[in-house]
Amino acid sequence: MSHVIDTDVTIIGGGIAGLWLFRRLNDMGYKALLLENATLGGGQSIKSQGIIHGGIKYALSGNLTEASECIAGMPARWRACLDGEGEIDLTRVRILSDHQYMWTPGGLGSRMATFFASKALRGRVDPVKRDEVPKVFADPGFKGKLYKLNESVLDIETVVSELIAGLEDRTLKVDWDQDSVIRFGENGDITAIECTAGGETYEIRARRFVLTAGEGTGDILQRWGVTSPEMQLRPLHMVMMKHKHPYPLYAHCISTDIVPRLTVTSHPTDDDQWVWYMGGDIAESGVKRDSDEQIVRAKKEVEKLLPWVDFSDAQWATLRVNRAEPKQSKLLRPDAAYCKAVGNGLITWPTKLALAPNLSDEVVKELQGADIEPSGNEAFGLPESLPRPTVTGPFWSGYFD
Ligand code: FAD
Repeated sequence: MSHVIDTDVTIIGGGIAGLWLFRRLNDMGYKALLLENATLGGGQSIKSQGIIHGGIKYALSGNLTEASECIAGMPARWRACLDGEGEIDLTRVRILSDHQYMWTPGGLGSRMATFFASKALRGRVDPVKRDEVPKVFADPGFKGKLYKLNESVLDIETVVSELIAGLEDRTLKVDWDQDSVIRFGENGDITAIECTAGGETYEIRARRFVLTAGEGTGDILQRWGVTSPEMQLRPLHMVMMKHKHPYPLYAHCISTDIVPRLTVTSHPTDDDQWVWYMGGDIAESGVKRDSDEQIVRAKKEVEKLLPWVDFSDAQWATLRVNRAEPKQSKLLRPDAAYCKAVGNGLITWPTKLALAPNLSDEVVKELQGADIEPSGNEAFGLPESLPRPTVTGPFWSGYFD
């Protein structure tokens, strides 16, 4: 038997973009359904470094670029949510650190000082006082400069859990190879999504289908026959180091390049250790290295930058992950959240986790522009037996003892 499920908006993909939008649309009274084909947050979102950027690292080249300006408002918007005063209640999210550091290993000190004293950055970056130096740098061997940035780092697993809490009954786990199919009409619209479970077929209709499937959006566009927008993938080869030192570090090591030499975030494990997650230039340039070579390179880099810490007992691993974004010339970093209407679909990529609120603004603007008003967010009455997606685990699961 076939059941029709009418929605205002059906969202395909439960990463940060889909989840933020889903929560926001529900709060606005829209009848929204979220479809996910793996785990919630388990794509790029959990593999991100969880930094709520205000764009300062991009401003290092000297000028605040368009990208920097667009993203500059995001930390305050997230902060309001974390404080219970924003559009979404994120008060139970675990804040790993409410600030980050920028450090130079030495040599760039005067350039940094001039840059950080600039008017554009006043109030966003402060020199670190002697008694506030984080433990890992509190060694006579450290000769560089250290600045504090007011950008927080969040535990993304808890962000995902908070965004979905209470809305699980409006989610469906789909399997496009088995029991789910997207139907496209000749007019270029998505006609419906059909899911079969327990011998029943559910035909999901929507006034707008929003694609927030990250890398998976490329495949949907191909099947849909949509050639514009196109997706680009920018690969990274991240490094993970699990160690016993009581040293959480949230910092960018700055070089003369626009990309930080090393960006480290720290994630506590259940056995009271830390996983340092390392990105920046090491992850960009490391795409061409295999895992063993990447580990050798990362060990050398950490030894060079923090020679006074003994990490010889640490466990190392690497993780490859793509950033999925709208195609730009020369694989440049896109400037803001992206949203484009195609038929009754909205094709989106946040381009940064921090820009998820900005993406939801763009979608809401499109809905309002098309006179799609909320029709009420009462539950759909979907049977409990239908498969529901669960929240992802930490990105380092399965890599270490
Ligand atoms: P995803 O998180 O990938 O979510 C897409 C979801 O859609 C997934 O759950 C996937 O399973 C699902 N899906 C895929 N195909 C289908 C389908 N056919 N049907 C149903 N569901 C589907 N940004 C920051 O702001 N700060 C950072 O510190 C930061 N660090 C990063 C570090 C790394 C290593 C990387 C790779 C990116 C980082 N980013 C950061 C960027 C940020 O992670 C991404 O911009 C953001 O997470 C993308 O979110 P998303 O929801 O679009 O994609």
